[in-house]
Amino acid sequence: MRSLLSIFALITILICSFSPVNTLTKTEPPGKTGHFQARGIYGSPDAFWNRGIELNRLNVNSVFMNWKAINDRIMERAGKEGLKVYAEFPVLNGAGYVDKHPEAWAIDSDGKRVEPASWFMGVCPTDLGFRQFRMNELRQLVGRFELDGIWMDYLHWHAQFEEPEPILPETCFCDNCISSFETATGIRVPGMSTPEKAEWILKMHEAGWREWRCSVIADWVRETREIVKEERPGALLGIFHCPWEDGEFNGARVRILGLDYDLLKDLTDVFSPMVYHGRMGRKPEWVRENIEWFCRRLDISPGAFPKVWPIVQAYDDPRAITQEEFRKVLNYGSAVPVTGIMMFTANAVAENPAKTETMKQVYSGLFSAN
Ligand SMILES: [Zn+2]
Repeated sequence: MRSLLSIFALITILICSFSPVNTLTKTEPPGKTGHFQARGIYGSPDAFWNRGIELNRLNVNSVFMNWKAINDRIMERAGKEGLKVYAEFPVLNGAGYVDKHPEAWAIDSDGKRVEPASWFMGVCPTDLGFRQFRMNELRQLVGRFELDGIWMDYLHWHAQFEEPEPILPETCFCDNCISSFETATGIRVPGMSTPEKAEWILKMHEAGWREWRCSVIADWVRETREIVKEERPGALLGIFHCPWEDGEFNGARVRILGLDYDLLKDLTDVFSPMVYHGRMGRKPEWVRENIEWFCRRLDISPGAFPKVWPIVQAYDDPRAITQEEFRKVLNYGSAVPVTGIMMFTANAVAENPAKTETMKQVYSGLFSAN
């Protein structure tokens, strides 16, 4: 009898461990929501597949990865494992482009071509040739693969926000930007040298200049959205973005990067704040504070648009991220009203069994009601 019971217990355990993801969690954990959608990884799923691990066994249901790494093999296997695939699409990363097209090089307030901002090289957001080039790439991408969404990345004027000491130059004062500003606002910038024009604009029309810069970024989102929805009406448009609160670094998210949430919230399906606590020299608890602030700021509701799906840090740079820290940021980054989460990077989790187990556990508590 005892051995029969043991066999039954063993069979029950086996059945449970092979059940679909949604049945793994029997009760709703406190603080979680039945609207939860994306239990994601950021990076190629090969990080796990090459180790013989199927992602649905880890309760993962979404893959976010660089668009250039997507191929038919990955799409096919992702489909078999029931995974949604979202393409990270770089927007204003000009590396490799500005060398061949110097007219698209962003110009600073001294009238000089900008230096790279650590590893990032921005491009002038009003350069029409670049815009056409990028939008053509986008059309090809959404026409080629049956993607579940496009996530815009590098969506800001030339700067670097991922460092503890951000790089925040005033740009872009190229002739095209100044004339576009004049056309949009009706302001006539007096004919002087570029440094003099930059000084005049910032002294006489700073608010209008900042607003116009934000509208340029929002217009990139608007056109990207049109292309994505035209080709794939069901696909989501997300953005990876700087997570700073309104007042941080003297308002630099709006002032320098050009990210105005009030302009973006009606154009964006999903916001993915890049809350890299280790990279930005902050504590894990900052992830909770920041996401709470952001959700209040945009009045986020779990069942409505826009949605919030943060990306948290797993990788060990510039310092090691412990298993416990990783658990914390996953939990902080997935609390109500958040409905999706992912981590940077898939490989940082796949190569570390403790982090893999942590992700699996946390994701078992995040589920969808249907
Ligand atoms: Zn420009």
